Amino acid sequence: MSKLLEGKTALVLGVANRWSLAFAIAGAYRREGARVILTYQSDRQRQTVEELGEELGAERIIACDVTQEQELEQLVSTLKKTAGKLDAVVHSIAFANREDLSRPFVETSRSGYQLALEVSSYSLVAVARAVAPLMSEGGAILTLTYLGATRVITNYNVMGVAKAALEACTRYLASDLGPGGVRVNAISAGPVKTASARGIKDFSKVLDGVAAKTPLRRNTDPEEVADTAVFLASDLGRGVTGNVIFVDAGFQIMGL
Ligand code: NAP
Repeated sequence: MSKLLEGKTALVLGVANRWSLAFAIAGAYRREGARVILTYQSDRQRQTVEELGEELGAERIIACDVTQEQELEQLVSTLKKTAGKLDAVVHSIAFANREDLSRPFVETSRSGYQLALEVSSYSLVAVARAVAPLMSEGGAILTLTYLGATRVITNYNVMGVAKAALEACTRYLASDLGPGGVRVNAISAGPVKTASARGIKDFSKVLDGVAAKTPLRRNTDPEEVADTAVFLASDLGRGVTGNVIFVDAGFQIMGL
């Protein structure tokens, strides 16, 4: 059987360690035959991401802090020289101050709000603008969001606001880039134990609560998120853009 991403090149931003959703996605992209390029934010993660890249058979590992316009320009210039074109870009990045994920939302500081929105929402716009010229033959941009964008989830706080903005950015970018054949979508993943998720106070209670109430009576497996990411990057997803697709074992349909 032919592989779904054969002949495609994917840039995956947001691998920090082997629990990262981006790591599962990069692995599934490799499984489906894509060439994969990874980025890391700072020297702190460099060695880990290089080791994981080697394990995956990633073609290249490049430094990129998405809040630094210069680093995005450098990333694109390196990609122009090496990969030439991109078919898929995965934005799997978020950050908020820990104190803003544990105290009442009303106490969010101006600087904490700006930081969360800058890293977790605006960066999708910056990344899309930077990579679009490398997608002249069309392509797929994908980001990761969470139900806290539209519902109040205890302690998710400013990150919920950032995800609401991220989902709106997904729609506006899909509209702007669609005429050039670039699709932009978001996967809304159910809670998964990752480094970022551990920053949310009482996250393990969320995992237990979801597993008990969700239609499939279990938590989300990162591999399920990754397989949907394959679909969206592949030609099978060619008609899908501007969407938020839930991969959450069904949790978001539930009322009482
Ligand atoms: P993760 O492994 O901690 O990934 C978050 C990534 O964001 C890390 O690689 C981190 O790099 C990177 N990052 C933060 N600031 C950055 C910056 N300025 N420039 C470049 N990279 C930066 O956690 P994850 O759960 O897989 O998160 C990936 C995405 O999935 C996030 O958007 C998250 O909100 C979303 N999501 C997660 C869940 C969940 O339950 N885990 C559910 C739904 C959606 P460093 O580690 O080097 O800082």
